Amino acid sequence: FSENVAGKVVLITGASSGIGEHLAYEYARRGACLALVARRRQHLQNVAKTAHHLGAPDVIVIPADVSKLEDSKHFITETVEHFGRLDHLVNNAGIATMSMFEEFTCVTNAAPVMETNFWGSVYSTHFAIPHLRTSKGKIIVIASSGAWLPAPRLALYSASKAALVIFFETLRVELGGDIGITIVTPGLIESELTKGKFLSPEGKMVVDQEMRDVSHF
Ligand code: NDP
Repeated sequence: FSENVAGKVVLITGASSGIGEHLAYEYARRGACLALVARRRQHLQNVAKTAHHLGAPDVIVIPADVSKLEDSKHFITETVEHFGRLDHLVNNAGIATMSMFEEFTCVTNAAPVMETNFWGSVYSTHFAIPHLRTSKGKIIVIASSGAWLPAPRLALYSASKAALVIFFETLRVELGGDIGITIVTPGLIESELTKGKFLSPEGKMVVDQEMRDVSHF
């Protein structure tokens, strides 16, 4: 963290597990107020309880589906109504499909990947910008190293992340520095998203030959 976030209002999407959950705890330890968004209400409530114990002065949970425009409008509005402001929007919610493109029997089944990973972040950003302008706030985007790497079985997932990168790089230019934008492109991290796909239930790497063939993955 390069700034003091104590008392700042931070909205994290995908806060019910994995990276979003841990980001919530890091913000909480530094005294930020939190709005936690994801679909699983009970998971969010558990995260909220821990975040509160770690030092977050106020935490609200807003069950929502980021891929739905109305849900995004609702969670941004509710956050600002509750806290009176918004300082950081963390666009973290994401899902992954892992399949060779040729093997998709029904390619439209993969539509939720783009709807969640790309459109979910675009919708929340659209509704958050007026509030972030007022607070001179920040948008943090969790993309993926997949945005740069042609890893087999991840064409649609990686495309959704590459779309995020160019969207937010362009938005940074359009906003001219009024709202900070940080794009994070993590490599492999153990989470619900990766278990059984890249990591076994015991947390060991499951990397097949095609993955090894992609240098530095
Ligand atoms: P998790 O599966 O643990 O977390 C994903 C989060 O997104 C969950 O909280 C999930 O909550 C939420 N989510 C998924 N779909 C929706 C939706 N439609 N609406 C609202 N929330 C949703 O995985 P990670 O923590 O690993 O993933 C977090 C982000 O990090 C993702 O964007 C992922 O692509 C990215 N990433 C992960 C990497 C890794 O190796 N783990 C590497 C690079 C990037 P719920 O199901 O309750 O809605």
